[in-house]
Amino acid sequence: MNTAITVAGVTVEPGERRDVAPAASEWYTGDRTTLPMAVLNGVEDGPRVFVTAAVHGDELNGIAVCRQLLDTIDPERLRGILLVVPVVNVLGVQMGSRYLPDRRDLNRAFPGSHTGSIAARIARLVLDEIITGSDVGIDLHTAANHRFNIPQVRLDTSDEEALGLAIAFGAPFVLDARLRPGSLRAVAADRDVPVLTFEGGGPHRFDDDVIDVARRGVLRVLARLDMIDDPPAPAHDAPMVLHESRWLRADRGGLLELHVEPGEHIRPGQPLWTTVSPMGAEHNEHAAEDEGHVIGSTTLPLVHPGQALLHVALPGDRHPAEDDPTEEEDPGEDDDPEEWYSR
Ligand SMILES: [Zn+2]
Repeated sequence: MNTAITVAGVTVEPGERRDVAPAASEWYTGDRTTLPMAVLNGVEDGPRVFVTAAVHGDELNGIAVCRQLLDTIDPERLRGILLVVPVVNVLGVQMGSRYLPDRRDLNRAFPGSHTGSIAARIARLVLDEIITGSDVGIDLHTAANHRFNIPQVRLDTSDEEALGLAIAFGAPFVLDARLRPGSLRAVAADRDVPVLTFEGGGPHRFDDDVIDVARRGVLRVLARLDMIDDPPAPAHDAPMVLHESRWLRADRGGLLELHVEPGEHIRPGQPLWTTVSPMGAEHNEHAAEDEGHVIGSTTLPLVHPGQALLHVALPGDRHPAEDDPTEEEDPGEDDDPEEWYSR
């Protein structure tokens, strides 16, 4: 039998869901904004897991995933504690912006402080109320502006237990991604809380296929942690684990025609894109030099030289998404190509 828990000053009995909303910041009017979260306290003991979305305010897919999870998961059948936080960056979502009103990136503001910037204060609230005391986290993101990501789970793959969770998630790709200072994932790792960062789709929209991959993925992770029964089938039954990636950039400016899509396996010599000048005088085709998997792409039709066009990972290893953890063998945050490096 589980016991009552208290989150943000609200007590939640076993088998109960309570929605709590600690103060997060204020508008210019002085009206309070809150950090709304659902606390599901299971009837039986188990791990504590958090699911966060919209740390970047224009990344909306995770908000839909959280809503669907809350429709699905019954605290009377849950083992352990689940915190679901659909809108972490409330101010950014209201403004339709990745950032906070002071242009700060919330995912670079961790661990934050009670007396710092808007971003620092919200980060500190997330750290105190959500990350601290949790065993595992899942942070839902999309690609940044003008980009699209194939569904992928990013984590430090040297953590074999977390890698097992990432494979169970069942997205097409698992990507080894270094920790970026100031990110939610990095500050959680400092406190021994592994976080799976899900990246899928693009900003300012709902990508239904991506939302479905993520919904199934979260439920499959909860099942692997023995918190729920009967998880859905994985969206992809043998995720590819990738260890290295880079962005391929335009060599010439012009109108862009991409010849490959996110998710595609590319081979040396395969045409990747053509740039054409508006008058048609210049016509430049770019072919792949190496084998790889396209995990993200630009969605812009016009490009300058140096613009990041395709995010390509080197071939990795395929892993069946096993349901039984004992059978497991060995095994973007964000996505700004100016900032993102593989290990
Ligand atoms: Zn993001």
